[in-house]
Amino acid sequence: MPGHVISVLLFLALHQLLVLPVVAYTALSDNFLRLVPSGGDDFDIDNGKLLAPILIPRVAGTPGQTAAQQHFLNFFAAELPEWGVEWYNSTSTTPVTGNRQIPFANLVFKREPPWVKEGQSNLLTLVAHYDSKITPNGFIGATDSAAPCAILMHVARTLDRFVTQMYDEMSALGEGGSVEMDMGVQILLLDGEEAFRAWTATDSLYGARALAEQWESSPHPAMSFYRNPLDQISMFVLLDLLGAANPNVPSYIQTTHWAYRNMATIEDRMRKLGLLESAPARPFLPDADKKVFRPPSIGDDHVPFMARGVPILHLITSPFPDQWHTMDDDGAHLDMPTVRDWAKIVTAFALEWLDMMEVEPKENSGARAV
Ligand SMILES: [Zn+2]
Repeated sequence: MPGHVISVLLFLALHQLLVLPVVAYTALSDNFLRLVPSGGDDFDIDNGKLLAPILIPRVAGTPGQTAAQQHFLNFFAAELPEWGVEWYNSTSTTPVTGNRQIPFANLVFKREPPWVKEGQSNLLTLVAHYDSKITPNGFIGATDSAAPCAILMHVARTLDRFVTQMYDEMSALGEGGSVEMDMGVQILLLDGEEAFRAWTATDSLYGARALAEQWESSPHPAMSFYRNPLDQISMFVLLDLLGAANPNVPSYIQTTHWAYRNMATIEDRMRKLGLLESAPARPFLPDADKKVFRPPSIGDDHVPFMARGVPILHLITSPFPDQWHTMDDDGAHLDMPTVRDWAKIVTAFALEWLDMMEVEPKENSGARAV
C-alpha cells in the first residue's frame, strides 16, 4: 500500500476518533414530537391532579409546606414507584422569625439505570422551587413556582415509560456501564428559594445553598467516575416564573447556549407541526441565534450550583410576569395553553436529551396524547 494511502487512512481513522461525540444526540422525529403529551386537564387549577393541590401558600415551617411535600410524595409513590426519593433537610433562622430554626426540605426524585453503582450515572437535573413567598399574606405563587413544579411532575411521568423501556433493553443486551450510556434523570424540588424579608445572600435560596454545599462535601467512593453528586449533573435545568401568557425566556449563559438552542429548536419544530396551543407573537425561546452574552445577573436557585461549576440552563422569563410577587400570581392568572405548551417543550427536550429515539414508538398507538 502506498505510503500516502496509509497516511490518508490513518488520517481518516484519527478524524473519526476525534469527531465522534461523547454522547449520541439524536433529534426526536416528527412522529415522536407528535406523541409528546401536554398534561391536559391535569393542570386544571381547581381539580387537576398535578397543579391544584399546590396552589396554596407553602411557606417553610407552615402546614402548607407539609401539604406540598405530601402531594409530591403521594404522586411519585402512586405513579412512579421506581423513582428513588431523597430528603435533604436543613434549618436556618430568618430575618423575620427570630431565634426559631425554620425547617427547609429539598426533595429529590431520581431514576437511573438499575445497574449503576454510586457516582456512576450522569443525571439530567430538572429543578423548581416549591416554597411560596411569606408576603403578601395568602400569596400563592402560581408561576412562582407551583406551575413549574407541576410541569416537572408531568415530565417525570412521561419520561418514565421510555426510560424503563430503555433500561430494560440495555440490560437485555448487556449494554450500559459506560459513562455516556449511564444516563438518568432527577427532579429537584427545592425549598426556601424566597426571601423572608428582602433578597440578600443569606435571606434567599435556603434550600439550594444547603443542597449545593452538602453535595459538594459528599464525595463518592474512590473509584467512582464522578467525584460527588454535583459532578453527576449533566445539566441543571431550572424552571421559574413560568405559566403567564407571552413568556420571553432569553438565553442567559454562553457556555450552555447549545442546550438552550436545542430546546428552542424543539419549540420551533413543535410550532411548525401545529403541536402547541399558544400563539404568541414571539417564540417562548427567541434567542437561538444569540451571539453576544453579558454575565447573568438574576439571583435564583442555580446560583450556588453555578458557583461550583455545574452547567446551568436557566428558564426564567424576562421581564418577570406582571403578577410577580403580588396576590395576582394565582391560578386564575395562569395562561393554561402556555402552561401546557411548556410541559410539552420541556418533556420533549428531556426525551431528546436522554436519547429516547432509541426507543421511539413505532406506531401512534403506543403513547396517548393527553
Ligand atoms: Zn418569587
